[in-house]
Amino acid sequence: MKTIGLLGGMSWESTVTYYQIINEAVKKKLGGLHSAKILLYSVDFAEIEECQATGSWERSGEILAEAAGNLEKAGADFIVICTNTMHKVAPQIQEKIHIPILHIAEVTAAELKRRGIERTALLGTKYTMTQDFYKAKLEEAGIQVLVPDEADMETVNSVIYGELCLGVIREESREAFRRIIGKLAENGAQAVILGCTEIGLLVKQEDTDLPVFDTTLIHGERAAQLAMEE
Ligand code: GLU
Repeated sequence: MKTIGLLGGMSWESTVTYYQIINEAVKKKLGGLHSAKILLYSVDFAEIEECQATGSWERSGEILAEAAGNLEKAGADFIVICTNTMHKVAPQIQEKIHIPILHIAEVTAAELKRRGIERTALLGTKYTMTQDFYKAKLEEAGIQVLVPDEADMETVNSVIYGELCLGVIREESREAFRRIIGKLAENGAQAVILGCTEIGLLVKQEDTDLPVFDTTLIHGERAAQLAMEE
C-alpha cells in the first residue's frame, strides 16, 4: 500500500473528515484490521487565511510547498491537499516536489463526467467560485459551471470562514444553502459541487433534489483507491 501525504489543517475540521473517509475506504476494500498509511502535515490555518485575505498567494504557496517537501522526505508517495481553495497554488507546490499531487478539481471533474453531468453548480470560497484555477479544470473536462450571484456568494463565503471552519453548524445557514442551490437548479444546474471541504459538514444529499458531489468524499476516496492500486 502507498503512503498518502495529507496537507491538512485548512481547516482541521475537514481534515478530520479526510482521515475518516480514507480509512473507511481502506477498511471496506481490504477488511480486517487494515488501515491507511497516512502522513499528515497540518498547518496553522490562521497563517494561510491571512495570506489569502492580503493576496499573498506566493507566500502561502511557499508555506505549503515546504510542508509538502517534508511529507515527501518523510516517505509520502503522493500529496493530497485537503482544501479546494489552496489548489490555486498547486502548480507552485508541484514545482518543489518530486511526487504527484492528486488534484481535487481533476478527480471531481472525472466523477461528474462518469455520472454524465454537463452543467453543474459550484459552491466554495469566493476564490474558488470567482477565479479560474478551479473552474477551468471543470470546463476543460467539458462541464459548464454555474456560480451563485454576488449576494449569495457572499453568504456562502462568510458561512465557510465564519462558521464551518470554526466547527459551527447552524440550521439557518443550511436553509440559506438550500435556497441558493434551489436557485442554481432553476438556472439549469444538473448537479451541485460542494467545492469547499467543509460544506459537507452542513449540506447533505437529503438537503436537495440535485445530485450532490462532495469534493472531500470524492478526493478522499480517490486517494484511498490510488494508495491501494498495484
Ligand atoms: N477548506 C476550504 C476549501 O476547500 C476553505 C478553506 C481554505 O481557504 O482553504 O476551499
